[in-house]
Amino acid sequence: MTIGGAGVSGRSSFDVINPADESVVASAPECTREELDAAVAAARAAAPAWAAVSFEQRQKRLLDLADVVDAHLDELGRLVTAEQGKPLAVATAEVAGLSYWLRETAALTLPESVNEDSAERLSVTRRVPLGVVAAITPWNYPMGQLSFKLGPALLAGNTVVVKPSTFTPLATLRLGELLRDVLPAGVINVVSGSGDLGSWLSGHPGIDKVSFTGSTRTGRAVMAGAAPTLTRITLELGGNDPAIVLPDVDVPAMAEKLFWAAFSNTGQICLAAKRVYIHADIYAELVQALAAYAVTVRMGDPTREGTRLGPISNRRQYETVLDLIEDCRRQGYGLLTGGTPEPGRGFFVPVTLVDNPPEESRIVCEEQFGPVLPLLRFDDIDDVVARANAGEYALGASVWSADPDAALAVARRLDAGGGHRPGTRRRGVRTDRRRR
Ligand code: NDP
Repeated sequence: MTIGGAGVSGRSSFDVINPADESVVASAPECTREELDAAVAAARAAAPAWAAVSFEQRQKRLLDLADVVDAHLDELGRLVTAEQGKPLAVATAEVAGLSYWLRETAALTLPESVNEDSAERLSVTRRVPLGVVAAITPWNYPMGQLSFKLGPALLAGNTVVVKPSTFTPLATLRLGELLRDVLPAGVINVVSGSGDLGSWLSGHPGIDKVSFTGSTRTGRAVMAGAAPTLTRITLELGGNDPAIVLPDVDVPAMAEKLFWAAFSNTGQICLAAKRVYIHADIYAELVQALAAYAVTVRMGDPTREGTRLGPISNRRQYETVLDLIEDCRRQGYGLLTGGTPEPGRGFFVPVTLVDNPPEESRIVCEEQFGPVLPLLRFDDIDDVVARANAGEYALGASVWSADPDAALAVARRLDAGGGHRPGTRRRGVRTDRRRR
């Protein structure tokens, strides 16, 4: 771990599993409460001096961080593949995304605005650092998710304590090691742990702001944990994005795009298309085209050239996805492709397309976060808009059409982009099922 500019091994460790073959990649330090206190204290101690560094200097330091990331693209990409399971080229692109966003963030400015400058008073809006930011990331994009937290927090003059997912701590720990000498001691701290570390960190009295990306269930816990101290929080949570396909699309061309909208990163993306509503006029043709395309995409060893889809990232999520598929089977829904896990080691589930399950089914209402996708038929725009706007998730949505105006007309009626719809949990549906 990186605490106060130094390496800390921890008193014990936990194993990180390669989801492609279930081997142990490495062990990661188990951060104790005392070590977390030390990390938060180091970040607090470093905060005033870092806040006093000029904005221009902080911009330059972000570019230095980006250079270090670029110099270690290959190494970090290999770590992401080993712990997360995505194909090597995709993992390396994810790491390149971190340096890209560090540079883009460095180009931002925080101008002061004068609200009033009169004989009576001067009123100015200035954005000042908050102090110590806890950056808590999920396992689907260990580097990508960090890229939206690290640069903005540092540029704004805050110090950070980063906590990656238990399943994917290695690239982040290594990043801490690489960056610890680039910035003053304590500005970036990285800790890892497999138990209660997340809740210790988000509820820590020394934290001024929590930036959390993860499941809705944990988001609720973060919000509750922040209440006693009124700690500021930003939550990026789950999604169950509808994709609506209008009847005028070019079906063969659309099938491939739709496939990747749903199955990139083996479906483990918050903003993936997670339920696809297809107009009845093209339903049969598009479903067939999707099924035909699915068999051409190679899933397998993510270190092998040509592999486009890796395994599900960890056993917990693997079991969640298998449970959803089993429910489809029990309920008698048609499976057009896939449905059975690959034999042998690794958390591989083939792309599974579910043929028009009921709107109230678990596979439609729950976030699958994996390679199984419900395809749903619709006839009427009002009906499909109502179905798309139902449920507690309102992260993203998409409309597919050859006619941009027609697509926009439907898109304007979609309730998405707000994250969640308070008070709209569906009856009888459990969301964010979590297994350990
Ligand atoms: P989790 O909520 O299980 O975990 C996310 C992170 O929170 C992990 O680092 C975890 O640590 C930590 N954590 C666990 N408990 C607490 C707690 N009480 N307080 C603070 N932190 C805690 O999510 P997953 O890792 O399973 O990620 C998948 C989910 O993330 C999906 O629902 C997906 O939609 C969502 N997501 C949302 C995105 C968005 O931008 N909206 C983007 C990507 C994913 P530990 O691993 O040790 O439990």
